[in-house]
Amino acid sequence: MADKPLAAVPAPPHPAPAAAPAHVAPRLLRGEDELQRLPASERIRYRLVGADRRFHANDNIAEFVRDGELAELKGEVAAKLQEVLRALVIDTDSDHNTNETAERVAKMYIDEVFAGRYRPMPAVTEFPNAERLNELMIVGPITVRSACSHHMCPIFGKVWIGILPNEHSNLIGLSKYARIADWIMSRPQLQEEAVTMLANELQRRVRPDGLAIVMEADHFCMHWRGVRDTDTAMVNSVMRGAFLKDANLRREFLSLLARKQG
Ligand SMILES: [Zn+2]
Repeated sequence: MADKPLAAVPAPPHPAPAAAPAHVAPRLLRGEDELQRLPASERIRYRLVGADRRFHANDNIAEFVRDGELAELKGEVAAKLQEVLRALVIDTDSDHNTNETAERVAKMYIDEVFAGRYRPMPAVTEFPNAERLNELMIVGPITVRSACSHHMCPIFGKVWIGILPNEHSNLIGLSKYARIADWIMSRPQLQEEAVTMLANELQRRVRPDGLAIVMEADHFCMHWRGVRDTDTAMVNSVMRGAFLKDANLRREFLSLLARKQG
């Protein structure tokens, strides 16, 4: 590489101690016009590091992506995937099946299966709980698709959400739960982290007295590779507020869920 990349290595998740040598700190003095000389991925990374923001596989980075940069990212990813195919010793020139695989997969990553990293949160209208509903509401099963961040293998599953609203809760339309879930799942994920992220998002928006989420999913890295187990499903749950304190409520949710599943 001719130039040293302007953005230094991303900051570690926990800030280094203050005594760290100065040369370790990234130089974050570039303006946007200078950043234009860099590939889009470096530009976006530079902004993230400058803002001290985490950009793990399941983090949303939409606010750091400018107009037109997703198209640039797709080009970069396609070029790197082409290198992967080359390293796998696949003759993409004469094999018409793999001719455009790099472009196809890049598009699939950025526009579809990992779109939840690059696109902003879908617009969701919240409305006050005018009816003062305070009964257990269950939403689900919501079909969710994701990919594990360990192998980038598909995860396919279902999510159930239990909400115990109070008079101050904001309610959101039923279909919006599925849109928020899809936005969070369309990233390389770990199931337990995905469920927590979904719970945090719903907690912040709805502010219920109790929130319960159960996710049951098939991890294709268990089927396709490794132990090649055909019928292992992973189940995760998050219980908050009233669902933690009240065993009857928890039982009610789980029994309704069992009935809905059957
Ligand atoms: Zn995996």
